[in-house]
Amino acid sequence: MRATVIHAPGDIRVEDVPGPRIVKPTDAIIRTVATCVCGSDLWPYRGLEPVGDPHPMGHEYVGVVEETGSEVTHVKPGQFVVGSFATSDNTCANCRKGWQSSCLNREFMSTCQAEYVRIPNAHGTLVATDEHPSGDLVPGLLAVSDVMGTGWYAALAAEVKPGSTAVVVGDGAVGLCGVIAAKELGAERIIAMSRHESRQKLALEFGATDIVTERGEDGVTRIKDLTGGIGADSVLECVGTAQSMRQALHSARPGGNVGFVGVPHEVAVDGQELFFSQVGLRGGPAPVRRYLPDLIDRVLSGHINPGKVFDLTLPLDQVAEGYKAMDERRAIKTLLTP
Ligand SMILES: [Zn+2]
Repeated sequence: MRATVIHAPGDIRVEDVPGPRIVKPTDAIIRTVATCVCGSDLWPYRGLEPVGDPHPMGHEYVGVVEETGSEVTHVKPGQFVVGSFATSDNTCANCRKGWQSSCLNREFMSTCQAEYVRIPNAHGTLVATDEHPSGDLVPGLLAVSDVMGTGWYAALAAEVKPGSTAVVVGDGAVGLCGVIAAKELGAERIIAMSRHESRQKLALEFGATDIVTERGEDGVTRIKDLTGGIGADSVLECVGTAQSMRQALHSARPGGNVGFVGVPHEVAVDGQELFFSQVGLRGGPAPVRRYLPDLIDRVLSGHINPGKVFDLTLPLDQVAEGYKAMDERRAIKTLLTP
């Protein structure tokens, strides 16, 4: 089969590799219907994370079940399924509490930009739709497998509530999905921090009420201006840099909350500053599996359309261009069709 392999920073190739096989009875093999390039894939692509030996890429997927291990009874060959970037058995103590991304048997997906994918913990990870969705719904369902689920978690972690004011730091796909989540959870005011026109437009379409283009302390000052001088109830940090985290923490009011879902790179939080700010802080890999049934329903009913974050669609063979376009910020997010 064809699969994406990274060889070095900036060197992404599609290669012929052996197809995946069932390894454990809890595995399933899916034929990928759509996969995509994640903002976090750009860390090794940009050389900001070591690449090491050539290895496959990708952790977002929707597909059709090809084969199941003997212990997988929840989904059947031929069904269309959505999963999560973190696989989970959905039965351990952490899963039962709703924290499937900390499943005691968790395995992170890492081979999804390919024609076929092995899904560990398939029984607890995959959710099948009643029927095969029409093509126009596939991007939205693909978004649910990571960016929409992550934006949803950011909003919940930031405790967005009806009538509240939410700030979204980051205008990548996760940040834009965070705007959708804040709207769905009832935020009355949603301030998107973005300096890119196409992304501002999409944020407004998704429900943002204000756009702040300033960054750093200037951005914080603008947020304070817009929130009666005290800061926002909820801040969704969707980048993962030292600057974005500082911006998020300083934008929340005392008693407010920051949900952080950008994987932190060289982020340090000052304990004493956090103590006196009285800001609540929670983040991590989103427990997407917890939200899948609900988010799948919202997409299939046409209530939300997070698939709009994909502004570039390419065949898998052109995956290198998909990375390049995102690296150069010509594309928000690249959808790949095997
Ligand atoms: Zn578990």
